Amino acid sequence: KTRSPMGGRLLRRWIGQPLLDIRMLEHRQEVVSELLTDTLLQANLAEALKKTGDVERLVNRVRQRIATPRDLVALAHGLRAAAEIRLSLSENVATQLPALAHIVQRLADSDENITLIERALVDDPPVSISEGGIIRPGFSAELDQIKLAAQNGKQWIAELEQRERRRTGIGSLKVGYNKASGYYIEVPNSQMNRVPKEYLRRQTLSNSERYIIPDLKEYETLILNAQERINKMENEFFVQLRADIAISASEGILDTAHALAEIDVYLSLAEVATKNNYSRPRLNDGDTIHIVAGRHPVVEQSQSDTPFIPNDTNLSNAEAQIGIITGPNMAGKSTYLRQVALIVLMAQIGSYVPAEAATIGLVDRIFTRIGAQDDLATGQSTFMVEMVETANILHHATPRSLVILDEIGRGTSTYDGLAIARAVVEYLHNNKRCGARTLFATHYHELVEVAQVLPRIRCMNVAVTEETGKVVFLRKIVPGGADKSYGIHVAQLAGIPRPVIHRAQEILEELERKGDAKARRKAMRD
Ligand code: ATP
Repeated sequence: KTRSPMGGRLLRRWIGQPLLDIRMLEHRQEVVSELLTDTLLQANLAEALKKTGDVERLVNRVRQRIATPRDLVALAHGLRAAAEIRLSLSENVATQLPALAHIVQRLADSDENITLIERALVDDPPVSISEGGIIRPGFSAELDQIKLAAQNGKQWIAELEQRERRRTGIGSLKVGYNKASGYYIEVPNSQMNRVPKEYLRRQTLSNSERYIIPDLKEYETLILNAQERINKMENEFFVQLRADIAISASEGILDTAHALAEIDVYLSLAEVATKNNYSRPRLNDGDTIHIVAGRHPVVEQSQSDTPFIPNDTNLSNAEAQIGIITGPNMAGKSTYLRQVALIVLMAQIGSYVPAEAATIGLVDRIFTRIGAQDDLATGQSTFMVEMVETANILHHATPRSLVILDEIGRGTSTYDGLAIARAVVEYLHNNKRCGARTLFATHYHELVEVAQVLPRIRCMNVAVTEETGKVVFLRKIVPGGADKSYGIHVAQLAGIPRPVIHRAQEILEELERKGDAKARRKAMRD
């Protein structure tokens, strides 16, 4: 919801570089919370921010001496909008909103520069700096005089046609101009006998003759010389103005640009917090992630027909370090995993979060292994990519990290995959250097068994009910493991042909029967 390109860039940077410093994060939260208290101020800021444009980019162009006249006019507009923002925070409001006021104070008083630009440049100048039309009348008496002389010359030429028609009685006489031969008087062949003797022939066309007269040539020279001087002077004035602004104010203006970008980001955070009912997370250096009724900020916005079902999260290194989430396909496992990661990330940029309440023990990194992609161009198969990502996590995660694993070992045979998945969970649980808070979504129900031997593992599943043979997704995370996948059900929903579905059901039943028989045999052996 940022309104300026600077704000957009800054928000992107914040998201890319989340913070670990609680004091700085709380300061950001404070600014957002101050903005939340004043909706009128929010509206005024939003209006002003829309007009700021990209002051940061413009100042940089000025400093590099590549700004065009249009850039300077845009800069003046942006600085005016900054002044508007300064004024919108009256002293009264400023004392109530000290954190915001602190940023607003960084908006430099640029009146002098604005006046400098607006006094020198016309409202809508061209991009080019060499073709005139840049400098406002009244800025230079000398320039105005030359322009006036050129104007008079043009006027004289404009009136020449009527004058000569009257004087010579040639009704079809025309005054024209072309680049090659300059101004000329054109008379059709039929009127040639009326041409006065002082007309000097310059060019013969099939139906007419072109002439010049000494006065016309003189005015032409005057106009062309004047135009050249005008262009040169305007260019010099502009280059000087750009240099003056670059030298006198670039630092102040640059900080103004940065402050504008910050205000833009804070306003956007406040706006989404209000609109989407976010809450201010509590931050600490502990090792828990406690979220009450958390939501996925994007999924909840994108589905308008069904309400988003909130879910809680409780992770802590000491008690519930690893959450293993099972549940049918399409139940909402991936959504839940990502929502936890996003809430933590949002908290660590200073934003409010989509939850009723949240306490976040700050994480040093968020590791994810999500989705199945291959990277054929660099010679990596889907499974290889999966393993490379997993290896990276196991090498680099720390007890302060958050690890999100959306399936591991799916790209190989069931036993291979299950073995790898279980070994990974054991390593995350038992290795002290690694020991990260982890959420692991999987279809391997067998993994639920590890919870019985490893104390800090909690099993959860996404609830579904079956009503008259149909699966109803409840989207609710509940304790315990799931025992069914409903994969064939989802295949049916996706439109797999009926015979394939029937056959799959038969095969599944057979496999399950065989599995049971095998388990019975094993039990008898044991
Ligand atoms: P699979 O195992 O097939 O990958 P999954 O369990 O990971 O499935 P998701 O991809 O997370 O399932 O969710 C499927 C869809 O369900 C989402 O696209 C979303 O539309 C909806 N959904 C997920 N969670 C919720 C929720 N909490 N409230 C409402 N709708 C949800």
